[in-house]
Amino acid sequence: MPETAVDDRKAGTAQAPAFLQPAEQKNMNRVIVIGGGAAGMMAAWAAAAGGSRVLLLEKNEKTGKKIYITGKGRCNFTNACPMDEMMGRVLRNGRFLYSAFAAFSNQDMADFLTQNGCPVCTERGGRMFPASEKASDVTAALMRALHRAGVDIRLHTEVHQILTEDGSVAGVQINREKIPANAVIIATGGLSYPLTGSTGDGYRFARETGHSVTECLPSLVSFRCAEDWVRDLEGLSLKNISIDIRDGRKKIFSEFGEMLFTHFGVSGPVILSASSAAAERLQKAGKLNLWIDCKPALTEEQLDARILRDFSAETRKQFKNALGGLLPARMTGVMVRLSGIDPEKTVNNVTREERLRLVRLLKALPLTVTGTGGFSEAVITRGGVSVKDVNPSTMESRRIAGLYFAGEVLDVDALTGGYNLQIAWSTGVLAGKSAAGAGTADKADSSARREES
Ligand SMILES: Cc1cc2nc3c(=O)[nH]c(=O)nc-3n(C[C@H](O)[C@H](O)[C@H](O)COP(=O)(O)OP(=O)(O)OC[C@H]3O[C@@H](n4cnc5c(N)ncnc54)[C@H](O)[C@@H]3O)c2cc1C
Repeated sequence: MPETAVDDRKAGTAQAPAFLQPAEQKNMNRVIVIGGGAAGMMAAWAAAAGGSRVLLLEKNEKTGKKIYITGKGRCNFTNACPMDEMMGRVLRNGRFLYSAFAAFSNQDMADFLTQNGCPVCTERGGRMFPASEKASDVTAALMRALHRAGVDIRLHTEVHQILTEDGSVAGVQINREKIPANAVIIATGGLSYPLTGSTGDGYRFARETGHSVTECLPSLVSFRCAEDWVRDLEGLSLKNISIDIRDGRKKIFSEFGEMLFTHFGVSGPVILSASSAAAERLQKAGKLNLWIDCKPALTEEQLDARILRDFSAETRKQFKNALGGLLPARMTGVMVRLSGIDPEKTVNNVTREERLRLVRLLKALPLTVTGTGGFSEAVITRGGVSVKDVNPSTMESRRIAGLYFAGEVLDVDALTGGYNLQIAWSTGVLAGKSAAGAGTADKADSSARREES
C-alpha cells in the first residue's frame, strides 16, 4: 500500500490531510472529492491515476455505504447492453452522458473490477454482478484501486461549504478548517435512502455557488393507492402481468413484467419503472389510473372461453371456489368481491353478463394511484444540478472554474438494470480525469475561456 494511502478502517479524523504535507507536493495539482459513494470513489481514482494528489472526504464511517445495499446486496453494477441501448435506458438528459459513457463504458467498469480482484458475471437482461454475488466485493475492489493510486481518504468528515475566489474554486470548509485545492468534485449523491449519507448537501453547494438545481422527486419508487383491498394482498407478487397507467385518456406508461402488492399500494420492477415515467405527471394531476392486466397473453374472448371451460368442468362448484385455476389463491377472495357476483352461487348460475364482467376485471383490474413512496424508499432521485450548468465533455461547472459534479447529484437518471451505477462510474471517471488535467495552467485557460464566452 502506498505510504500516503489511508486504510478504510483507519482513515479519518483530525490531522491535516497528508496530501498537503510534503513540501515537494506543493506544486502538484490538488483535487478534493466530496462523497465516497460510487461516483466519488471513481472520481478520486481517476484523478489520482491522472497524476494529481487526491483527498476523498466522506462523512460516513465508511465509503460506499449505498453500494452495499444495491441489487439487494448483490450490486447490479452495470448492464452489458450496447452503449446505444444504454442511452435508451436513461430517462433524463441522456445526451448529456455521451462523453461520460465514451470516457468509461460498461466494459471498462467490468475490466476495472476484474483487475482489482472482483471477477464479474452477466445475468438475464444483461445485468452484471460481482461473480461472488456480494456487493461488498465491489466496494473492496474500489478501495483496493484507491489505495494503489495513493488517494488519501478522510472518513467522518462532512464538508460544509465550497470555497471560491474570483470565479474559481479555492477549496472546501470543514467545521473551522479550510482545505485548499485546485479542483473540487461534488459527488454527494441525491436524496434517496438518506441513511446511507445522501442528504442532498450537493444541491445546497450547487445553489450557493450559483448553479440551478431542478426540482427533486423520489423516483424508482412504489405507488400509494386509494383502494383498501390492496392491504389484503400485501406481499403478494404477480408475475407475467402488464400494467397500463393513464391520466384521464392520456396514456402515460404501459409495460409487461412483475409487480408486488404492499400495505399502501403497489411496488415491484414494473411499478418502479412506471414511477420514473409517471412521477411528475402524478404530482401535477394528483392522481392517475392504473390497470393491471392479469392475463395479458389472452384476449377477452380467449379468456371468456377459458373461464367457460373451467365452469363447465365443475358446474356445481360455488363461484367463490372457482377461480383457483386462474389466479393465485390469495387473490381469489378480492376478485370475487370486486366482481360483484354472489360468492355462494354455483357456477352454472353465473350469467353471461356476470362472466363478462369478471373477464373485464381480470383484463383491467383498476387502481387509483394517489402518490409515491418517499425518498426514504426511493432507489434514485429525479432532478438535481441542472446539466445546462455543467460541461458534458468534462463535468466541469460552467459557472465556477475547477468545480466538477459527478453521479446522482446531477439531473440525470435511468431505469433499473445497472444503468444508474454506470452513470455514477462514468461521470465519476470523466470528472476525475478532467480535474486531474485542471492544473494551474489548464485552470487559467478555462477561466479565460469562460470570460470569453
Ligand atoms: C436500495 C437501492 C438499490 C439500488 N440498486 C442499484 C443497482 O443494483 N444498480 C444500479 O445501477 N443502481 C442501483 N441503485 C442506485 C445507485 O445506488 C445510485 O444511483 C448510486 O449509488 C449513486 O452514486 P453516487 O456516488 O452519486 O451517490 P451516493 O452513493 O449516494 O454517494 C454519495 C456519498 O456522499 C457522501 N456525502 C454526502 N454529503 C456529504 C458531505 N457534505 N460531506 C462528505 N460526504 C458527503 C454520502 O455519505 C455518500 O457516501 C440503488 C439504490 C438504492 C437506494
